[in-house]
Amino acid sequence: MFIGGQWVDSTGNEGQEVKNPALGEVIATVPKGTVEDVDRAVKAARKAYDEVWSDSTPRERSETLLKLATVIEEHGDELARIESENVGKPLGVTISDEIPPIADCFRFFAGAARALEGRAAGEYMKGFTSIVRRESLGVVGSIAPWNYPLLMAAWKLGPALAAGNTVVLKPSEWTPLTALRMAELAADILPAGVLNVITGDGEPVGAGIVRHPGVAMVSLTGDVATGKDVAKAASATLKRVHLELGGKAPVIVFDDADLDAVVEGIKIGGFFNAGQDCTAATRVIAGPHIYDGLLRDLVPAVGSLKVGDPFADDTEMGPLVSDEQLERVTGFVARARKDGAEILTGGAPLKKKGSWYEPTVVVPSGPNAEIVKREVFGPVVTVQRFSDEDQALAWANGVDYGLAASVWTRDVGRALRMARKLQFGTVWINAHIPLVNEMPHGGYKQSGYGKDMSIYSLEEYTQIKHVMASLD
Ligand code: NAD
Repeated sequence: MFIGGQWVDSTGNEGQEVKNPALGEVIATVPKGTVEDVDRAVKAARKAYDEVWSDSTPRERSETLLKLATVIEEHGDELARIESENVGKPLGVTISDEIPPIADCFRFFAGAARALEGRAAGEYMKGFTSIVRRESLGVVGSIAPWNYPLLMAAWKLGPALAAGNTVVLKPSEWTPLTALRMAELAADILPAGVLNVITGDGEPVGAGIVRHPGVAMVSLTGDVATGKDVAKAASATLKRVHLELGGKAPVIVFDDADLDAVVEGIKIGGFFNAGQDCTAATRVIAGPHIYDGLLRDLVPAVGSLKVGDPFADDTEMGPLVSDEQLERVTGFVARARKDGAEILTGGAPLKKKGSWYEPTVVVPSGPNAEIVKREVFGPVVTVQRFSDEDQALAWANGVDYGLAASVWTRDVGRALRMARKLQFGTVWINAHIPLVNEMPHGGYKQSGYGKDMSIYSLEEYTQIKHVMASLD
């Protein structure tokens, strides 16, 4: 683990195996962290905060983040290779679609660090001047998931460091390798203790970060149930909580939509990263007249996705991240089948070593079926036929999640009407899945609260102070 600028072992002296899910083989062993390790990391982060980072100027932090972006870019192929081996992502896609936004995230926050300001000072009471200061919080605990290990770490580190906080980062126990390599690459760039990476399980390491009184804020990207545990545990010390949780994105396709664009959008948006994406296009809700044509084109498009070796040039989809995840997806589809769903393509694990599942399209038994309401987090898309706009909207909003949605239509008024009424933190029109660092990403409802990316995220990693001075 990387604490206070040095590689250290866990106080528990236990190891944790890390696997390659494409082959089902162990590729590394990392320390299994303990609460003592959490305490060491928080102390190192606090020391760096007090002695160096809280006194740094925005320009200094900005220049540091720019260097971090450059070193990540320079080692992009290597980081992508590690990520692909550990998560099963197709290497070409990781190089083209994940590394550039990671470097760009640090560049965006490098710029934003210098633009951060409180509102103007002024006299709001006679004889007094008020000043608003925007200040850092202290030590931030960042807890990351396994689906985009380095990208999610970047979304957390960029704003936290830009705002002047120091960080204790806990990657997922399944995918800790790129975070460790990034810490190594950053060792000559960030002052010791500004970034600490500790490995281990949710309990005790993640939960230990949440409980630690020296941590001012916790940012979690993970499951809704984990978010609830974290919010509850954080209440003991009333620390700030930032939660980016699960999703169940609807794809509302009106009869006048461009069918080819819709099929391409679902093929990419539903199966990118093997569907292990919180914004994945999982829930297609199609108009009464376009429905048949959509199924006619979508099913063979999904069925022909090239599933295989993540390191082969033409691979479009790799394995799921783990056997546990494979079991989860298999269970969802088996229950849906039992419940009366029709499986139009896929619907079974691939018979080979590793954690593989077929790209799958399902017509559910009804609008309240489990497969429609709960996040599967795998390569499974459901397709429903709606009768009118009100029903489409009711179905789209009828889940506990509220992360992202898309609307497909050529009618501008209808697209904007839907965008207004959809209870989701992101709404795409005639697209699904693109994100940019300048714009916020985050949930409504049980998809959590707090924004990633954008100036809104940077502000959440700060606190506001009012300074009121007598003019006498
Ligand atoms: P998870 O909740 O199982 O784990 C996430 C992280 O939390 C891991 O590092 C884990 O060790 C840690 N953790 C587990 N229990 C904890 C506890 N009690 N206290 C503190 N930390 C704890 O999630 P996952 O399976 O790694 O990731 C998949 C989930 O993440 C999906 O639901 C997905 O939708 C969501 N996700 C959301 C976004 C978003 O931006 N909203 C992005 C990516 C993934």
